[in-house]
Amino acid sequence: MSNVQNKTDVILIGAGVMSATLGSLLKELAPEWEIKVFEKLDKAGEESSNEWNNAGTGHAALCELNYTSEKPDGSIDVSKAIKINEQFQESRQFWSYLVDSKLIRNPQDFIRPLPHMSLVQGEQNVTFLKKRFEALTDLPLFQGMEYSEDLEKLKEWIPLIMNGRTSDEPIAATKIDSGTDVNFGALTRLMFDHLQSENVEVNYKHSVEDINRTEDGSWEVKVKDIDNDNLEYHTAKFVFIGGGGGSLHLLQKTGIPESKHIGGFPVSGLFMVCNNPEVIEQHHAKVYGKAKVGAPPMSVPHLDTRFIDNKQSLLFGPFAGFSPKFLKTGSMLDLVTSVKPNNVLTMLAAGAKEMSLTKYLVQQVMLSKEQRMEELREFIPNAKSEDWDLVVAGQRVQVIKDTEAGGKGTLQFGTEVVSSSDGSIAALLGASPGASTAVHVMLEVLEKCFPEHMFKWESKIKEMIPSFGMSLADNPDLYFEIHNSTAETLGLNKKEPAYN
Ligand SMILES: Cc1cc2nc3c(=O)[nH]c(=O)nc-3n(C[C@H](O)[C@H](O)[C@H](O)COP(=O)(O)OP(=O)(O)OC[C@H]3O[C@@H](n4cnc5c(N)ncnc54)[C@H](O)[C@@H]3O)c2cc1C
Repeated sequence: MSNVQNKTDVILIGAGVMSATLGSLLKELAPEWEIKVFEKLDKAGEESSNEWNNAGTGHAALCELNYTSEKPDGSIDVSKAIKINEQFQESRQFWSYLVDSKLIRNPQDFIRPLPHMSLVQGEQNVTFLKKRFEALTDLPLFQGMEYSEDLEKLKEWIPLIMNGRTSDEPIAATKIDSGTDVNFGALTRLMFDHLQSENVEVNYKHSVEDINRTEDGSWEVKVKDIDNDNLEYHTAKFVFIGGGGGSLHLLQKTGIPESKHIGGFPVSGLFMVCNNPEVIEQHHAKVYGKAKVGAPPMSVPHLDTRFIDNKQSLLFGPFAGFSPKFLKTGSMLDLVTSVKPNNVLTMLAAGAKEMSLTKYLVQQVMLSKEQRMEELREFIPNAKSEDWDLVVAGQRVQVIKDTEAGGKGTLQFGTEVVSSSDGSIAALLGASPGASTAVHVMLEVLEKCFPEHMFKWESKIKEMIPSFGMSLADNPDLYFEIHNSTAETLGLNKKEPAYN
């Protein structure tokens, strides 16, 4: 066992899309800073960011009905949809900058155009969808959205879903062609390739075991080299904990006051994947339905065309599952060991409050393949069991904390940046909307942790992300300019995705 002592400017823990994005931003803003990355697996983008572990939706609120809730007066609240769309535009701008600057060569390696659709059945749901469409259609960010209840039109849009449909229940859909399928795994790997070419030291098979403050206010990170069991100690002025599901345990090790009274609850995702090429080629969209009453937002069912390994695939899900692991490659003790004296009451309160989630998860875990097929048949009436296999996706660790609005032990479904008051350490917790908003969330990390540099960095940030600090909803001309130029750079104007 040897103890290596190393000093550096920045340490990024974890090689997922969040660390990749923060590292890429910092490399442009402060190229002289020395950055080190520690990842316990042997490659980048192998946990939640991996293409098989998430749904690959470029979340821009074009089809996700849970981003537009119905207010008590029956009108539709579009504020969350606007916010998420604006955040996705920031990602598009930064990815375009990476492509324009030749830091990433071929955008088709990670992003493809794909219509985003919402589909509902039943009179009440149809009324909701129509109102949602009317509330969004005139807003610049949602330009191009179409609505139809016409069966012939729907057959044209989604033949696989409409063929063999016998129900005479009302049905309706919206469609917008400017949606995307994003391979976040490929994007993560491309950004890490770029970072390594810029002399960022990326250490795979290096697991971070502990984080402690040093006397001079820096952070000492204890790292285990997994191949030879050696322990290394690295210090940095700034540490980003981008460990995905592993972030909560690491944040707790820092002992910062901001890490207290926070817990995590893991929810697994499972997808059905189609193995029949004839079925796969009949569908070309991401089609989101409505979550069942009482089901959590991450359980919205969707039938998605995906582009993985240069092949078109078809996935349906997610089904929820339960595993106490916080990472797919984590430990069965993750949930238990995350309970500390400072968060035990928060966790207990959440347990008492979230009985319906527990019930939902138990029901989901008990589903047989045929019962899952029955849910799929609500989308594809003629789906055959032999055409579909079950794949296990990533773990989402939902944040539990005490909030003013929800009280003690409130389950949060969004992402959350937790940072020390001096900005020397930050962690990203939570899961949704996730990778799509990585750029916005990492800009938030920069603003929280480097306020003294923001004035100097602002012009470079605006070169990379022209809408930084502005509302695109309030500046439609800027939105159209950005939307068109990023579509051009990212190859999103092509009608049919080109295969390599
Ligand atoms: C089922 C499912 C569907 C989803 N669908 C979508 C979607 O459609 N669109 C979307 O935008 N987002 C989606 N998400 C969310 C998205 O996948 C995540 O928000 C995003 O990938 C998180 O990136 P990350 O870098 O924080 O974490 P990860 O990609 O999980 O990376 C964390 C890394 O840290 C490493 N690590 C952890 N602990 C340590 C340690 N102690 N030492 C060293 N390394 C460590 C891990 O090995 C891992 O490589 C989905 C997630 C799931 C689970």
